[in-house]
Amino acid sequence: MNSIADNICAVRQQIAESAARCGRAPDSVRLLAVSKTRSADELRQACEAGQRAFGENYLQEALDKIEALKDLALEWHFIGPIQSNKTRPIAEHFDWVHSVDRIKVARRLSEQRPAGLPPLNVCLQVNISAEASKSGCLPDQVAELAREVASLPGLRLRGLMAIPEASGVPAEQRRPFAALRQLLEQLREELPQLDTLSMGMSGDMSAAIEEGATIVRIGTALFGPRDYSRPNP
Ligand SMILES: *Cc1c(COP(=O)(O)O)cnc(C)c1O
Repeated sequence: MNSIADNICAVRQQIAESAARCGRAPDSVRLLAVSKTRSADELRQACEAGQRAFGENYLQEALDKIEALKDLALEWHFIGPIQSNKTRPIAEHFDWVHSVDRIKVARRLSEQRPAGLPPLNVCLQVNISAEASKSGCLPDQVAELAREVASLPGLRLRGLMAIPEASGVPAEQRRPFAALRQLLEQLREELPQLDTLSMGMSGDMSAAIEEGATIVRIGTALFGPRDYSRPNP
């Protein structure tokens, strides 16, 4: 099996190639290493290979790793579902949150963001394929939510995030990413500071980059398949 360092190198190469194919600069796409279920030691290896930004889904697991790795200058992104009674540790320990989908959570994160830290970077999660079972606000709710979130002093609204239904067909992969990009373009008429499209995972990162992703969230292609039977690290 390849080492984490080899995988990071290969994924960065793939990002650069996808960006080049559509005339984008390679550094216009950031690699977020999705490290759920991975041990602090695996994150340390990724950091040694030059990776700084890590995405976590489960709060307690993330807090344990943030504590274990506090000697490193890492950037932490919360990308999982948010319970409104668990916002305080997110506001205190993360640099970004990609999964804000309702105003109640946004208000709490803003109020609970410590005064000594810069505003928390936030993306609104959109249920772009409108599946009832998934989290994320509906596309026709996003403008109102964005307006309210943009006015909260503890937050800095950066853009939109989506997790479309997986498809192995490249032409189908692009459709929901194009829809998210169009939604961001509409919002930017009112909120021109928005600069982020968080979209694309291991199986569909090229399609996402071709539709304008500025952050791709990659787990499996960096760390190998996840094993949920292991106890949390
Ligand atoms: C797990 C996860 C990813 C990474 O998925 P891979 O297919 O392993 O690259 C990206 N985004 C979110 C929100 C996730 O939960």
